[in-house]
Amino acid sequence: MALIVHKYGGTSMGSTERIRNVAKRVAKWVRAGHQMVVVPSAMSGETNRLLGLAKELAPSQASAAYGRELDMLAATGEQASSALLALALQAEGVEAVSYAGWQVQVLTDSSYTKARIEHIDDKRVRADLDAGKVVVITGFQGVDDAGNITTLGRGGSDTSAVAVAAALKAAECLIYTDVDGVYTTDPRVEPDARRLKTVSFEEMLEMASLGSKVLQIRSVEFAGKYKVPLRVLSSFTPWDIDIQEEASSGTLITFEEDENMEQAVVSGIAFNRDEAKISVLGVPDKPGIAYQILGAVADANIEVDVIIQNLSKNGMTDFSFTVHRNDYNKTIDLLNGKVLPELGASTVEGDAKICKVSIVGIGMRSHVGVASKMFRVLSEEGINIQMISTSEIKTSVVIDEKYMELAVRALHKAFDLDQNAA
Ligand code: ASP
Ligand code: MG
Repeated sequence: MALIVHKYGGTSMGSTERIRNVAKRVAKWVRAGHQMVVVPSAMSGETNRLLGLAKELAPSQASAAYGRELDMLAATGEQASSALLALALQAEGVEAVSYAGWQVQVLTDSSYTKARIEHIDDKRVRADLDAGKVVVITGFQGVDDAGNITTLGRGGSDTSAVAVAAALKAAECLIYTDVDGVYTTDPRVEPDARRLKTVSFEEMLEMASLGSKVLQIRSVEFAGKYKVPLRVLSSFTPWDIDIQEEASSGTLITFEEDENMEQAVVSGIAFNRDEAKISVLGVPDKPGIAYQILGAVADANIEVDVIIQNLSKNGMTDFSFTVHRNDYNKTIDLLNGKVLPELGASTVEGDAKICKVSIVGIGMRSHVGVASKMFRVLSEEGINIQMISTSEIKTSVVIDEKYMELAVRALHKAFDLDQNAA
């Protein structure tokens, strides 16, 4: 007998039929003798629907008063799905009770729409588990210390589930979703992508931050901090498949490099079309220019990703960086309006049609020539690299958006990630 946390995403909770399936699956785990906590997302489309209603009535604003009401509203999606699941469990003959975040409590800070979990009180949940009940806890939401309902950012139910698992010291947190695990790359771009049986926590963290949408990045950070055993698996297998088979399916996120780990140098290819490139040209090269440019950008609350500064020529240099596409126009305006005249730089140029393609693998630590192989593969495809950034376990390049799929497929093949290569 173990304490297990299951998380079900919006698609898995998408209709009463699917909720019934979730209930049957959870009931199977209960009959196998486990103590179960279940964290569902809102039914698919519901969060978008609710936020759409808000937008119709009031233009979005950065104020706390606006954020507070958005959270009050969006949190209802998970409250509904949690109650429905508890009802479905009861209909399966399983004792179940659902709680909203404020009832548990899942305490967060007060940053509406992107709150961070600070503490989870486990008393109420433990008492119910000890009484033999399944406890359903709303994903995505919490409460601040003034009693306001908060939400954790889109996709935040993953983080709720991992945080609940950490607080309860659960034996495992299983994230049931509409894909059957973590893949070497997005199978919609490369049909030969292969499911990874295991992936290290560090690789998962890189992949999540580089654009893989399987897990909310904060959930991976949480899992790393509290060493929560985490598995991503499909909710679309028949609910009555053998429980052992189910428990070992999908992708396990591991914390140690053991001999069972897949030994590939590169484990996955991630990509991201959400960025735009901005270049400040003809900047007088003197101390403080990076700060003058990026400081102004940071003060405007704009996140910067890849950064390069060219060598200077005749005392002048060029400076380029990427931002989220949503911040593209704002950044260009900011630079033209204020920063350019102060710097004495000549022009600002931008390109929103770029993408970032990254290779990720802890094997890169101990192998040389991995990045150069990436560059060779791209050059053989005639793809021009505009920017490069590296860390210990990843290399990213910024290229023209129109070559994204070509780049992903070529790299996937060159690093032997295809299904047949393993
Ligand atoms: N329902 C929320 C969303 O759509 C949270 C989640 O599904 O994880 O973003
Ligand atoms: Mg999700």
